[in-house]
Amino acid sequence: MHQLTLAEIARGLADKKFSSEELTKALLARITQLDPQLNSFISLTEDLALQQAKAADARRANGENGALLGAPIAHKDLFCTQGIRTSCGSKMLDNFKAPYDATVVAKLAAAGAVTLGKTNMDEFAMGSANESSYYGAVKNPWNLEHVPGGSSGGSAAAVAARLLPAATATDTGGSIRQPAAFTNLTGLKPTYGRVSRWGMIAYASSLDQGGPLARTAEDCAILLQGMAGFDANDSTSIDEPVPDYSASLNGSLQGLRIGVPKEYFSAGLDPRIADLVMASVEELKKLGAVVKEISLPNMQHAIPAYYVIAPAEASSNLSRFDGVRFGYRCENPKNLIDLYKRSRGEGFGPEVQRRIMVGAYALSAGYYDAYYLKAQKIRRLVKNDFMAAFTEVDIILGPTTPNPAWKLGAKNSDPVSAYLEDVYTITANLAGLPGLSMPAGFVDGLPVGVQLLAPYFQEGRLLNVAHQYQQNTDWHTRTPTGF
Ligand code: GLN
Repeated sequence: MHQLTLAEIARGLADKKFSSEELTKALLARITQLDPQLNSFISLTEDLALQQAKAADARRANGENGALLGAPIAHKDLFCTQGIRTSCGSKMLDNFKAPYDATVVAKLAAAGAVTLGKTNMDEFAMGSANESSYYGAVKNPWNLEHVPGGSSGGSAAAVAARLLPAATATDTGGSIRQPAAFTNLTGLKPTYGRVSRWGMIAYASSLDQGGPLARTAEDCAILLQGMAGFDANDSTSIDEPVPDYSASLNGSLQGLRIGVPKEYFSAGLDPRIADLVMASVEELKKLGAVVKEISLPNMQHAIPAYYVIAPAEASSNLSRFDGVRFGYRCENPKNLIDLYKRSRGEGFGPEVQRRIMVGAYALSAGYYDAYYLKAQKIRRLVKNDFMAAFTEVDIILGPTTPNPAWKLGAKNSDPVSAYLEDVYTITANLAGLPGLSMPAGFVDGLPVGVQLLAPYFQEGRLLNVAHQYQQNTDWHTRTPTGF
């Protein structure tokens, strides 16, 4: 049963081949048995899951249908879940039980999805390897000595290991697409404003966006359908009708114009990944696509701009964790200043502290113009590059990451070397564009992802291209040995 996709589960439940309760019990048992190798869950929510599964079975018995009704999923542990620990991967929130459900959580629960648990993540979603979590590193099921990517590494490892069919995740600079690439999954970062951020603990508010991680584009369409939509509680949510994503999957790719940016194939890219990317282009050409070289000239400035803007916003967002209102409080504070200092010093891990310091510095008087304002100007140039490219092509294609998953610990002593691995993903966040990563082959037994980018609100186009590719290739069906 654990090999079933969301689409297959929906059919199996509709045909009464199994109940949601049976499926939920089987997957919970599988998680208990296999997750100790991976560490992909921070909390299991067995009681809630069984209660939701029974309720979904009852709704189906009453004639209700729906692709997510009775489907087991998990939430990245930064989506607030009422009465359930919502840790954000941090000691700071280890004791925090959210008083309400995030919009994404509430919408998926209303659609009948069953929450199996909360997945591990980099602390406050800062990272690309899932090694900054207070709850320990997550292992890549394709090779337990390698990282699964981050920050949504728990969601990715769990889905890749067939512990469950799909999970929610978030992407501030690549945290859906990069772990998807590292674990052979399909992951979609929607257009900024497409999925509500209400109840999603903020890292960098102008970049954060929730989205689905699953094995196939077809399943991403199902999960995104349940997540997307306007939310009056999120001031950056966009009031734009949500199309039927599953209906977009089968469009023909005849005449689709694919742009391949020449800047993507610069020095840092593993040549074996470059070959797999070009092989995916050939595959799409067979389906009728036409390919054109394009240029994104400001891409080289994107990493420095992102690593000013994201920490700047984080330093502001994380000021609310002060030992007074949320989460961790130090023992025996001597006075208020001591309470603030020690609660934050003891509650936040080293990567989070580094980002807060960089962000506070970039925003401070005298440096604001030189760093933060400059970075915002670069952000506009990055966006303008994309706008120009999308007058010539329908979709942009390239590698998701310059290298496959690295070994656990390999980049611990040099954070900047990890930041550089975000080179292909962060531009979509800076511009607010939707992006998808899909499986496209292996290097040394480790998965490789191809990234597709589309104009605003063209998630359906991304899913269409990925689905057609997956109808003609079988990379996405490969299962890691031992799972
Ligand atoms: N690796 C990037 C960072 O550390 C992106 C993380 C994310 O998308 N949440 O900021």
